[in-house]
Amino acid sequence: MKSRRETLPYLIEKISILNIKRTNHIYSLLHGKEMIHGMPHEVLRKCGKKNCKCNKGSKHGPYPALSVNRQGSQKIVMIKKADAASVLDCAKRFKHYQQTLARIRRIDKEINHILVKLKMDNTTDYIPV
Ligand SMILES: [Zn+2]
Repeated sequence: MKSRRETLPYLIEKISILNIKRTNHIYSLLHGKEMIHGMPHEVLRKCGKKNCKCNKGSKHGPYPALSVNRQGSQKIVMIKKADAASVLDCAKRFKHYQQTLARIRRIDKEINHILVKLKMDNTTDYIPV
């Protein structure tokens, strides 16, 4: 006896929901707006003055920065104050793009899994007698 989760109508509904999500994800990437490589990041700093509060743990900042992956290692790139708003907007779009690509890959995997299951459920070998 098949459970409801294995029936064709259930799987068709599931695939169509995944397809709608996938299409929406793809369209959210087609904005054509500028992006900047790196994840938004905040940096706290010491200034080096002897009697400053930052020597007792209360550091300056947070200052806007980007965490950038270069050849496998993380680099922190400070953002100039004047550039902060536009750079962070561009970096947020980059982050969204990265996360959405990962979501699309997960959905592709799920769709593939269902299609392979349907293939196996409905395929037999032809054996002439
Ligand atoms: Zn200080």
